[in-house]
Amino acid sequence: MAEHHRIIIVGAGITGLTAATSLAMRDHEVLLLEKNTTCGGLVNSFTRDGFLFDGGIRAVENAGMIKPMLEELQIDLPLLPSKVSLGVEDKIISADTPESLRDYELLLKELYPESTKDVERVIKVIRKFDIYMQVLFGSDSPFFKDAKRDIRYYLSTFILWIIRFLATGAAIMRMRMPMEQFLNGLLENKALIDIISQHFFKKTPAFFAMSYFSLYPDYYYPQGGVGSIPNALRARLTEIGSEVRTGAEVVQLDAHRRSLTDSSGNQYTYDKLIWCADLKHLYRMIAAEEFPESERAGILKEQERILSSRGAESVFTLFLAVDLPPSYFSKISEGHFFYTPSRTGLGELHRADLAAILDGWQQLSRDAFYSWLESFCRLNTYEISLPVLNDSSAAPEGQSGLIASFLFDYELTRRIDEEGWYDEFEKRISEMMIDTLTASVYGALKEHILFSFAASPLSIERNVYSSEGAIVGWSFEQEVPIDAGMLNMKKAILTPMPDLYRAGQWTVSPAGLPTCIMTARMAADLVHTELS
Ligand SMILES: Cc1cc2nc3c(=O)[nH]c(=O)nc-3n(C[C@H](O)[C@H](O)[C@H](O)COP(=O)(O)OP(=O)(O)OC[C@H]3O[C@@H](n4cnc5c(N)ncnc54)[C@H](O)[C@@H]3O)c2cc1C
Repeated sequence: MAEHHRIIIVGAGITGLTAATSLAMRDHEVLLLEKNTTCGGLVNSFTRDGFLFDGGIRAVENAGMIKPMLEELQIDLPLLPSKVSLGVEDKIISADTPESLRDYELLLKELYPESTKDVERVIKVIRKFDIYMQVLFGSDSPFFKDAKRDIRYYLSTFILWIIRFLATGAAIMRMRMPMEQFLNGLLENKALIDIISQHFFKKTPAFFAMSYFSLYPDYYYPQGGVGSIPNALRARLTEIGSEVRTGAEVVQLDAHRRSLTDSSGNQYTYDKLIWCADLKHLYRMIAAEEFPESERAGILKEQERILSSRGAESVFTLFLAVDLPPSYFSKISEGHFFYTPSRTGLGELHRADLAAILDGWQQLSRDAFYSWLESFCRLNTYEISLPVLNDSSAAPEGQSGLIASFLFDYELTRRIDEEGWYDEFEKRISEMMIDTLTASVYGALKEHILFSFAASPLSIERNVYSSEGAIVGWSFEQEVPIDAGMLNMKKAILTPMPDLYRAGQWTVSPAGLPTCIMTARMAADLVHTELS
């Protein structure tokens, strides 16, 4: 006998939790189904032997969204400042104030004295985008306010915000071209282009890459790790009487009959379903032929688009427990650090060379692969996070945990795993990362490692069922299979199937934590309106 629920939400990542809490706060009975035993998806933290690590996103951008969301859902969670540093070789600056852009300009000019004009050109663009970002995210977003209930707020702030949002959004959307195309048209120095852009996904829209500098001062670290946010949302849901069922993977969905089955064989029916997980998983379960002919063509078209698309690049992450005090690291950088050990840049290593490796995989010797990998580790940009520099309770006294990652191709790890030498690869790449960081920024690192472990694109895929291990939704390297950009986000939450909505990192592009929260709230609002 199937259990009936008016609203079922699938996936208890930040999106599903936000949507569920938002609905439950408005007195809806919601069932949230999550395949894992814990909630949070790509927003998660865990401890090992007293060291706190963040498994996915390292810190959260407020973007005028996170704080209002927590406030509206009545969640009292300390958000500690999470300062960012940027560094190349031995030149390291803080990027935590609006004046930091001037330091960044000086850093680039010192590195590339022959390209000062190039540097000035790119800084000018970043400065322009800084102004746009202040308009978009510099004040609290009204998404988490019921503007209509507060007429003074509606007339003074909301209408102005909407006008500024639309005008700025339109200006930004004109810069959708891939950042590579934009930077190649603007700058001559290829190494400089790499240093500015190689930590972004390939073909990231230019506006997104150019505006990222402005987001650095807006990062926060929730006390107890980023996973404290999903934990607090879950606690809030339970407190108001809604159920989060973990260990409940949705394995079958009959969207026409509005029913689904979980991995334990439990059957459910629903009035409204919000899918907050990987869209390829959703569309693999859809049987378009079950729907009336008038709906079938639209569903098939959408299904084909989604299933033929790929997730964005993934990351390789190394977690290190180190017998060095936080002061060793705080003398070098802030707790969130984008570091490039060499000014040379990746060049074609992550583009043409990687493509050649994948094309010639059968003929490639393992030595040749490791030689490529060594250069890749030496010339890459690392995202480094030191939770203990933000939250002093994140490591045992006198010791520190360090998380270092860079973008990494899913397909490589898949093939290595298929051929049975993943463990050897993981050991070698971890050693190369440690050697690179020891030779460049942390001279004492290698001698003080207590233990280490790693996560690959494959582990991300397995853990949250994110296609191709993607960490922010769709790849920019091919046409994105959803129509929603910043200006028509509301369309994003609709599917061609009645009463089935979607939200999260697969529904808008470019995606990220703020847009996950925004779409979660939009889906919740729509369902609320339809059921009221
Ligand atoms: C290393 C890293 C760094 C990042 N950095 C940033 C950043 O700086 N800025 C930024 O904005 N974003 C960043 N992100 C991206 C951001 O964390 C994600 O976009 C966001 O957390 C996605 O949330 P979600 O809820 O949409 O999806 P997910 O977190 O993937 O949640 C989906 C949930 O659904 C569950 N699920 C899947 N299938 C099923 C099923 N069949 N049945 C039941 N449950 C299911 C999964 O287990 C998971 O819990 C980063 C991510 C990573 C990993």
